Amino acid sequence: EDVVNRMAAGEVLARPCNAIKELVENSLDAGATEIKVMMQNGGLKILQVSDNGKGIEREDFELVCERFATSKLQKFEDLMHMKTYGFRGEALASLSHVAKVNIVSKRADAKCAYQGNFLDGKLLAPTKPAAGKNGTCITATDLFYNLPTRRNKMTTHGEEAKMVYDTLLRFAIHRPDVSFALHQNQSSDFRTKGDGNFRDVVCNLLGRDVADTVIPISLESTRLKFKFTGKISKPIASATSKNAQNRKTNRSFFSVFINGRSVRCDILKHPIDDVLQNRSLCVQFCALHLEIDETRIDVNVHPTKSSVIFLEKEEIIEEIREYFEKFINDLFG
Ligand code: ADP
Ligand code: MG
Repeated sequence: EDVVNRMAAGEVLARPCNAIKELVENSLDAGATEIKVMMQNGGLKILQVSDNGKGIEREDFELVCERFATSKLQKFEDLMHMKTYGFRGEALASLSHVAKVNIVSKRADAKCAYQGNFLDGKLLAPTKPAAGKNGTCITATDLFYNLPTRRNKMTTHGEEAKMVYDTLLRFAIHRPDVSFALHQNQSSDFRTKGDGNFRDVVCNLLGRDVADTVIPISLESTRLKFKFTGKISKPIASATSKNAQNRKTNRSFFSVFINGRSVRCDILKHPIDDVLQNRSLCVQFCALHLEIDETRIDVNVHPTKSSVIFLEKEEIIEEIREYFEKFINDLFG
């Protein structure tokens, strides 16, 4: 049974960056305003996320790494949301099946922090008092130590680290009101202030030339019950063959969040790309956020929660296209 759990966990958390996404989302769910990520060897040796969120109660330690254990479904109506947010209570359980997990956590109302070690979904020994500030620190050591095939699929440490960086970068840009820090003793380390200043975050992480041109887009559809907001850099002429090379080195930024969850969902960008392409334009920066009635999407199709099914996909795309067409017309005449 452990082997099956382990392999399933290896699918859900295929790489260090998947674990980081889950841990950071947990920290945000816990109301954290400061989130720090530390890693060694691209997250394969050590992957650590600490936050100043509400913490975990001592009695709940037994449960947190158990499958389907979640503190986030309190009312009966929440069962409905379970469908959309999907895979409730699986992240920590999965992590404990593919890594050695240590949790230190302190609730504001507790006298001290408590800590516990977890393996294969279980708390190994009763929790012990520990030193720690309010909040939670989760450390995963030796990721995929028990899944050599998965471990071998990893690229270099540097590339895994880059993917963790990209994941955290997206959160940092999406939530300027939260302070994010990445430590791995490399040039890619960063820290955002968390003071809500979007422009500063973009300026620090992607450079002033991007930050200076960013413009907001916003569309609300009462009919389809969604609100689509975003920030894009001012469209520029698409690369001609001459500067096509520049484009490769000059990576562009793209992110999509749906109801606050980071997802891989290119289809929301398609209408934007189409409109731009028709005018031979492109953007260097595009951060999108869709808030949509939860009964109209299903993010549960794939265990990594990265793909999404929309009830009214074509209609949504069409509304975005119409809106953006007009937006570009107003901008360029
Ligand atoms: P889910 O997020 O779907 O509830 P997880 O496996 O990701 O499931 O987490 C299990 C539970 O552990 C959460 O419901 C929450 O109660 C607790 N938890 C995990 N991370 C944190 C954190 N950083 N701060 C406070 N509680 C946490
Ligand atoms: Mg979670």
